[in-house]
Amino acid sequence: MSVQKSKEILADLIAFETVSADSNLDMIGYLTQRLEALGARCIETRDETGKKANVFATLGPDMPGGILLSGHTDVVPVADQDWTSDPFQVTERDGKLYGRGTCDMKGFIAAALAFGETLDASKLTQPLHFAFTYDEEVGCLGAQTLVNDLSERGIVPDIAIIGEPTEMRVIEGHKGCFEYTTRFTGLEGHSSAPDDGVNAAEYAARYIGKLLELRHILKSRAPTDGRFEPPWTTVNIGQISGGVAHNVIASKAEVAWEMRPVQASDADLVKSTLADYVEHSLLPAMQAVHSESSITQKAVAEVEGLEPMEENAARDLVAELTGANGTGVVAFATEAGLFQKLGVHAIVCGPGSIAQAHKADEFLEIEQLDLCCRMLNRLGRRLMG
Ligand SMILES: [Zn+2]
Repeated sequence: MSVQKSKEILADLIAFETVSADSNLDMIGYLTQRLEALGARCIETRDETGKKANVFATLGPDMPGGILLSGHTDVVPVADQDWTSDPFQVTERDGKLYGRGTCDMKGFIAAALAFGETLDASKLTQPLHFAFTYDEEVGCLGAQTLVNDLSERGIVPDIAIIGEPTEMRVIEGHKGCFEYTTRFTGLEGHSSAPDDGVNAAEYAARYIGKLLELRHILKSRAPTDGRFEPPWTTVNIGQISGGVAHNVIASKAEVAWEMRPVQASDADLVKSTLADYVEHSLLPAMQAVHSESSITQKAVAEVEGLEPMEENAARDLVAELTGANGTGVVAFATEAGLFQKLGVHAIVCGPGSIAQAHKADEFLEIEQLDLCCRMLNRLGRRLMG
């Protein structure tokens, strides 16, 4: 497979303006058409608006397992960024391909598709799957829908390679990212009679106190061999708002917070501790004064972490294919953790650097694309038995 073919496909992909806020249906249509032309069996899943879609495609034998190449189709906005050239048109300068999404992560999608087009599907000894998803940049929403669908269908690939930009390094771990907005509704009143009202701001403060207590517990639970920086699950209170004036009992308050778990059990602990605290302590106290008081929580994002595993067939395979003599962990969250939760051995490995992602003049070095093509070509020889 040539880099040239990947470059041609990449130029097509960049021209689809798939900023997360907008529809990605045109790009999914393009990918599906090309995949179906290869004889791939495609499954489309959509979000509730119908304007965003995933495509999951399979080449080769109809049997369990196989290898999955996965990437997200959405890109971050270009608004308020100072670009040298049109972000939605690939421009080549000095061995680099410029354009929004070149490194994050349409370069990998282009290489994966170009790779698929070189294969003789009838000679594959195991299935080769492709997953192209929506809304990764706003919380891995598409991958969540896709993974739920695969779980219902009983489709569990053996290995998943998520081609986020790692400069083709093999990444076997990242923290999760769980973001929430918790809303407190109490009862307004005059500040001189605090017992007649329910002060939402005070209950929010107590909730935050519980989160800070948990922070200490989480620190003590850090795995001894942890490679993350810092090696424990972190909690951040990002925004507090509520109330109207000094002398009014605050009837509304809101806390925006997040945690970045290093292990799934930490996320479970935080969620169950808070739920218990709300149900058995805060809410009864609020409702004793005003029965309509409430505490509600909205999950803004729940991106599973990718936990480094002792046994990881994906890591071993890709380390061999790339010749890597070590693996790493990264600070950014990806869709890999969702696939791991499905029971797939997953790693992150793709062309380009995260340092170039999300910025003006995002680029992908052609040399990186070439390395990715070489890795996939070696994979192809493996898939042919
Ligand atoms: Zn990405």
